[in-house]
Amino acid sequence: MTSPMHWSRWGDPAKVHPVSASTRGLIEAFVGPVEERPTVALDDVALPPIGLAGDLLGGLRALVGDDHVLTDDESRVRHTRGKSTPDLLRIRGGDASDAPDAVVRPQGHDEVARVVRWCSDERVALVPFGGGTSVVGGLVARREGYAGTIALDLTRMKRLVAVDHESMTATLEPGLLGPEAEALLTSEGVTLGHHPQSFEYASIGGFAVTRSSGQASSGYGRFDSIVVALRVATPIGDLELGQSPSNASGPDLRELIMGSEGAFGVVTEVTVRVRNVPPVKVYEHWRFPSFLEGAAAMRALKQAGIAPTVLRLSDELETMVNLADPSSVGAESQPGCLMVTGYEGDQATVDRERSVVSAALSDLGGTSDGIDESWASGRYDGPYLRDSLLDIGVLVETLETVTYWSQIPALYEDVKTALAGSLGNPIVLCHISHVYETGCSLYFTVAVKMDGDGIDQWLAAKAAASDAIIAAGGSITHHHGVGTDHKPWLAQEIGPVGVEILRAVKDRLDPAGVLNPGVLVP
Ligand SMILES: Cc1cc2nc3c(=O)[nH]c(=O)nc-3n(C[C@H](O)[C@H](O)[C@H](O)COP(=O)(O)OP(=O)(O)OC[C@H]3O[C@@H](n4cnc5c(N)ncnc54)[C@H](O)[C@@H]3O)c2cc1C
Repeated sequence: MTSPMHWSRWGDPAKVHPVSASTRGLIEAFVGPVEERPTVALDDVALPPIGLAGDLLGGLRALVGDDHVLTDDESRVRHTRGKSTPDLLRIRGGDASDAPDAVVRPQGHDEVARVVRWCSDERVALVPFGGGTSVVGGLVARREGYAGTIALDLTRMKRLVAVDHESMTATLEPGLLGPEAEALLTSEGVTLGHHPQSFEYASIGGFAVTRSSGQASSGYGRFDSIVVALRVATPIGDLELGQSPSNASGPDLRELIMGSEGAFGVVTEVTVRVRNVPPVKVYEHWRFPSFLEGAAAMRALKQAGIAPTVLRLSDELETMVNLADPSSVGAESQPGCLMVTGYEGDQATVDRERSVVSAALSDLGGTSDGIDESWASGRYDGPYLRDSLLDIGVLVETLETVTYWSQIPALYEDVKTALAGSLGNPIVLCHISHVYETGCSLYFTVAVKMDGDGIDQWLAAKAAASDAIIAAGGSITHHHGVGTDHKPWLAQEIGPVGVEILRAVKDRLDPAGVLNPGVLVP
């Protein structure tokens, strides 16, 4: 059972720790002296008054039951925004001005469908809420012009509906969080293999509608590539998509829902392709002289069709920070770049793939640093450090993009230059997290001493980096999605005709415009 997420931080409250003295020393070596920043207590968070009239709350209670329409302060605070750094900074400062009027917890497709239609009839804005881990403002709906706003919390919908062992598919309800879904699937001998860094708290429905990518997506595929069928409740009726694994029956409407971020309908069931639980998992460290040489090796591997299950590469600074002994910061030694490779399967498959990949990486200039026993167990720890750094006034945030191999070197430099231009002298770390035959994603982590409350400081830097991404031919997002934060750049990326298509779909499926207003559609 996953513990409820901390109300104002990332993750499991039991895992909250102050930064260690050595990490603090490392950070101070880069940004100068830092100091503690207090955060408000839950009781001191300022909530707007409940805007939904009593008769409308009564209408919702009639649909899902009295116990499942929550209007208490804590429930409203816990459903305010997502977990981007600006989201965290606002809630830590006591600002819950985007809180929903009520949290509504339906059970099953039919209840969801009734709530969706009711919201459309009553002009109540509805924000689907899975794990609440959005980092792009996906849970911050526009409020003006509506009779109120509800968060549609899907966490009562946690069934493994069916497993088809012959076709190797499983149908899951959307409110299952990553570990809950894996536990149910493992009991059937199968796995999704989807492990984003938010695995502990993100939901199956959220993965589908944001086109999530996991740390083992090289081997298992991005979430949008493992979805085979979807059940969706929209204001104008239900959609059942994916009657066959693939077909030529016109454009694939599953693609309209994946990436729809709650703006076109509420996903109530997701059928995914599963694999047998791998008995053997091996993760290994490799080192390359430089980031671009490591990237070239990844490209060669992927284009030769021999990519392992996990394939990631840190740039020089990320490698140094991850491996650093604080006393060595600033020393001349050049650690090169760390690559993680991972193999999952039966012993024979793991041995065969590892030997082929190892021979190729050695030929491409890599040196093995040996097996890393702890990589998998520590892979969800990073986000906890962000809160601990915010506690001492260090702003930390991430951003990501994707482009073709030929554009990677320029994109990498341009984003770093834009961030430095906006933030002065930030720490900018980067890794390649996902690799395709034709290109790869770049994932940046940025840290800088906080200026004021840090929010305007970050929004300016993010805008500069987003401009640089679009100018360099990258996509505004590889896997975080659009939400509200990326909308201006999405419009540039898909152009006016693309925007018209999104608007037309939105207008037809959601004529009253109640589904996540202001999210996704420019
Ligand atoms: C620390 C951290 C690490 C992260 N690491 C990764 C990563 O490695 N890879 C990655 O891809 N992402 C990552 N993310 C982003 C985030 O976890 C993903 O976007 C995730 O897929 C969101 O799932 P969720 O259940 O939390 O969705 P939510 O945040 O609840 O919702 C996201 C959007 O989807 C809509 N929505 C949710 N459920 C439904 C539904 N059933 N039907 C219709 N609309 C719905 C919401 O309205 C919202 O617009 C990370 C986020 C954090 C905070």
